[in-house]
Amino acid sequence: QLHFAESLSRLGTESAFVVLARAGQLAAQGRDIINLGIGQPDFRTPEHIVEAGIKALRDGHHGYTPANGIGPLREAVAADLHRRHNVEVNPDHVVVVPGGKPTMFFAVLMFGEPGAEILYPNPGFPIYESVIRYSGATPVPIALKEENGFAFSADEVLGQITPRTRLIIINSPANPTGGVTPREEVDKLVAGLAAHPNVAILSDEIYSQMLYDGREHVSLLQYPEIRDRLIMLDGWSKTYAMTGWRLGYAVWPASAVDHVTRLCINDHSCVNAATQYAGLAALTGPQDAVRDMVAQFDARRKVIVEALNALPGVRCPDAAGAFYAFPNIEGTGMTSKQAQDRFLDEAGVATVAGTSFGRYGEGYVRFSYANSTENILKAIERIGGLLG
Ligand code: PLP
Repeated sequence: QLHFAESLSRLGTESAFVVLARAGQLAAQGRDIINLGIGQPDFRTPEHIVEAGIKALRDGHHGYTPANGIGPLREAVAADLHRRHNVEVNPDHVVVVPGGKPTMFFAVLMFGEPGAEILYPNPGFPIYESVIRYSGATPVPIALKEENGFAFSADEVLGQITPRTRLIIINSPANPTGGVTPREEVDKLVAGLAAHPNVAILSDEIYSQMLYDGREHVSLLQYPEIRDRLIMLDGWSKTYAMTGWRLGYAVWPASAVDHVTRLCINDHSCVNAATQYAGLAALTGPQDAVRDMVAQFDARRKVIVEALNALPGVRCPDAAGAFYAFPNIEGTGMTSKQAQDRFLDEAGVATVAGTSFGRYGEGYVRFSYANSTENILKAIERIGGLLG
């Protein structure tokens, strides 16, 4: 019998992948499954980006690159952040990694250890709590509530800071709720953080281009007073429909750049070269594909929110950002997990229980609307048949 490290028992997972596997099994048995479970765009990566990746391979970019990413890509990231958020970023503070997740893992490993406390959104992306536990730190949930549009309350976050707090993780637009934190709340948080100068902030802005109804993304980079302790995470997965390419980045505080670069060298050496060239084409090329995808998400969002609200026992709040609807299903008499299982087994619709995103997700189910309008309507109709 192998003697696995105790730390492994503390490592969680992302249930969306478990649901995806189960949906795949059912589909293999011949069931017609509609997948509203997975958090990835259903679009192909735009063609000019694919071509740039192929060209990089043909041009012989087959070797290691600098561990923090090729210079032109880090410069393009800085230019993109200037264009989108009107902020100055030093390309040397940009570290390119394979996807959004590695930044999370490295940031938590950098600050997490037994005795340390890390605040994180709940319900929230499940990897936050998983890696906090893995690091030995104590996870302290920031409860996100429907009545606040699933945005954090700055007072509540600040009220949970103790002398042991090392890192605060925030995420807007948010997975799984679609919540967007308004600027006033971010202003208030940043002002309050002045009293806690040793606390770092990880702002997960991976959905920064997916906001609807004229909402504007508030990047934490827009607050110079916290630049020396801000890790701003973004990437290509969602914006450019590039989840399988594995490409993301973060802007790190100057004092953390060497640490994160060493983590990259120890972990993966560098992101594969062709992917980095594809990512460069994504940032420097035309952005119409992004606008088109967001417009389609917006149209589907309206369809799904309306259809969910018409179901008995279901109340679906406005979905302000990302590509998720997070309806309350308490009125159906089911728990989140029961709803997830029945929707899949009896209606052939894959969704993810709110509790997969933390205990404050009880009573909710996540629907990803990264699927066709036709499939969305069919899925909700089938669930309607189940709820009778
Ligand atoms: N952050 C959030 C909030 C996410 O929802 C996701 C993916 O679902 C990620 C980060 C990770 O993205 P990636 O696939 O690039 O690792």
